[in-house]
Amino acid sequence: MKIHNFGAGPCILPQEVFQKAAAAVLDLNQSGLSILEISHRSVAFDEIIDNAQNLAKELLDIPKGYKVLFLQGGASLQFSMVPMNFLPQDGKAAYLDTGVWSSKAIKEASLFGEVLTVASSKDKNYSYIPKDFNLPQEASYFHITTNNTIYGSEIFEDYDVAIPLIADMSSDIFSRKIDVSKYDLIYAGAQKNVGPAGVTIVIVKEAFLEKKARLVPTMLDYQVHAKNDSLFNTPPVFPIYVSMLNLEWLKSQGGVEKIEYQNLQKAELLYQEIERNSLFKGNVETASRSRMNVTFSAIDEDIEKRFLSVCKEKGIHGIKGHRLSGGFRASLYNALPLSSVEYLVETMKDFESSKS
Ligand SMILES: *Cc1c(COP(=O)(O)O)cnc(C)c1O
Repeated sequence: MKIHNFGAGPCILPQEVFQKAAAAVLDLNQSGLSILEISHRSVAFDEIIDNAQNLAKELLDIPKGYKVLFLQGGASLQFSMVPMNFLPQDGKAAYLDTGVWSSKAIKEASLFGEVLTVASSKDKNYSYIPKDFNLPQEASYFHITTNNTIYGSEIFEDYDVAIPLIADMSSDIFSRKIDVSKYDLIYAGAQKNVGPAGVTIVIVKEAFLEKKARLVPTMLDYQVHAKNDSLFNTPPVFPIYVSMLNLEWLKSQGGVEKIEYQNLQKAELLYQEIERNSLFKGNVETASRSRMNVTFSAIDEDIEKRFLSVCKEKGIHGIKGHRLSGGFRASLYNALPLSSVEYLVETMKDFESSKS
């Protein structure tokens, strides 16, 4: 049976990426060596990491003056690295609280300085993106989470703010066009839309790196990684290689603009069905609904259980909601084809008819 993978992360990647990655494990470009055994100082790897960087720059239209880094520790280490590097001990940083990941970022930042939570949607179980908030101008930076993977809300706007803007884009980077010039630092764990777990992409404005707020351990110092082009120590060679393959795939599909259009179509199709179907309802208010992670609930627990078992029978994988938000979550990352969403929608329709 064909499996349709709606998992939230690590998640689906294109089949051809899996095939090329598998081939390179056995023999990288007819070199007689596996991608797993080459030196990170080799010419072959130089080409790979350069290519990955250039593809990221091209696909996101990253302006001059920015570095693309490949780090380790996941987005979760970025929660600490950002304040450690840029929030002075007697300073303040502004955070927008839109879900679990924002809260975790806030918790880490409070270890280094004062956190000003400018707004939170916790009052309504993170079902919307707060609109009206004031940014304290004395803050060293403003941190946002553009896509809330667990609750299913998304910020589509590149905020125009007078202080440095930092974004966790772990689950929507490369899914839609962004104006990188509005941000001083963007980070993303790769395993949601870019590649395998084990590498974290950081896009940072070089001028911002000068604002380092304290002495930090070498491995946690952005300046060190920037100066060494992500080769201060052994980088995650294989995850970087697979990310490169995936970015090549994205380019071959017509790039971010094209994929954004497809992502919009996929999300619209599913949200329309959730609204139409009498057995389900959406979790997030319309204007804030994520295109990457569609969260919804059944009208009662019995329906929820039964639909989960139908999904299992039908090869619909990874659709159970996060334990904190419950219900269902269908993740529609770049590599998930429209046909999988059509299949899910058909399954929801059939399920409804079987109940009446
Ligand atoms: C998954 C996720 C994280 C955590 O990423 P790790 O790489 O596991 O640390 C952080 N932020 C967002 C928005 C996520 O989706």
